[in-house]
Amino acid sequence: MAEKRDYYEVLEVPKTASAEEIKKAYRKKAIQYHPDKNPGDKEAEEKFKEAAEAYEVLSDPQKRQRYDQFGHAGMSGAGGFSGGGMSMEDIFTHFGDIFQGAGFDLGDIGEMFMGGRGGRSRGSRVQRGSDMRVKVRLTLEEIASGCEKKIKVRKLVQCKDCNGSGSKDGVTETCPTCKGSGRVVRQQRGIFGMMQVQSDCDTCNGEGRIIKNKCPKCGGQGVVRDEEIITITIPAGVAGGMQLTVPGKGNAAPHGGVNGDLLVLIEEEEHKDFVRQDSDIIYNLLLDMPTAVLGGQVQIPTLTGDVKITITPGTQPGKVLRMRGKGLPRIDQYGRNYGTGDLLINVGVYIPEHLTNDERKLIEKLQDSPNIAPNSNNKKSFFQSLFGC
Ligand SMILES: [Zn+2]
Ligand SMILES: [Zn+2]
Repeated sequence: MAEKRDYYEVLEVPKTASAEEIKKAYRKKAIQYHPDKNPGDKEAEEKFKEAAEAYEVLSDPQKRQRYDQFGHAGMSGAGGFSGGGMSMEDIFTHFGDIFQGAGFDLGDIGEMFMGGRGGRSRGSRVQRGSDMRVKVRLTLEEIASGCEKKIKVRKLVQCKDCNGSGSKDGVTETCPTCKGSGRVVRQQRGIFGMMQVQSDCDTCNGEGRIIKNKCPKCGGQGVVRDEEIITITIPAGVAGGMQLTVPGKGNAAPHGGVNGDLLVLIEEEEHKDFVRQDSDIIYNLLLDMPTAVLGGQVQIPTLTGDVKITITPGTQPGKVLRMRGKGLPRIDQYGRNYGTGDLLINVGVYIPEHLTNDERKLIEKLQDSPNIAPNSNNKKSFFQSLFGC
């Protein structure tokens, strides 16, 4: 991803700009790069998002102060943008009112960027269910191979009695307030004087129709709280902190609208043998003294089962053995695989802490042997192999 631009630069305002100047500047950018004016233009879309992100931070006094102090580094994980940026939908949800009077039909545009979830008839609005967040804990083995997880989610689902319509008998009538358009128009004082503002009709929530006899089970909402078992497919190589989106598996919307999404936060279980380092995994192997000296075979665990490896005679503690391709799949931000990490084996040598008399005698005997003590030659090669110096 390209380097983030300075937020003030994005909105073309001085660092001393007032809240009003920032709002004005954002409005200008947002209208310039509005998707409705630049259909299919990816660059305009990026600029549109960039401006929204800048505005999101600079319009909030706390976030702005943090940004001024720490720059982009101060933004992550602090209620700011945590990497992914804002979706078009978020932008219209949060800042939609910035376009008021600019001649855009917000409902339509917002919908356009909702990933083509179902059609809507012009004029009236289809409601969208809210997103739901769940956490899924995975073992390294599950991450290595990818897996399917079934989770039980308590959420709003369509009412079966009324098929989500909210109506007892299926009878609806045209909303008397908006005459079925779902919209009401009123005058409002805005940045550029009086403006005509269109908004959703409160009586029918923008749907254009109202229910005559409410469904007794859901009270006319068309949704009820219930449990659902959802199967989530986890691709191999995910990491703790990543978020997967399962479209349409969030809360159902009132009156047969479109479902929200299920957002799955990945958590990693600690492994008894391994420590993860990106796509590599690290295993600490402790050799007994004779094996380190004489060489031999030892059994070590991998994510796909135990394997035997050969220890060469004279293996020094601190040596790192690498088993290529025995780590985790590497994936990019789109979930595409690009290779596999390695298993790194950190070799240590166990020095006995308690000895019997016989053992002590053996070691004492060794102490005087010519090849036991480090000398200037083997000392050099030891550190060279470990630290390259
Ligand atoms: Zn119902
Ligand atoms: Zn209405």
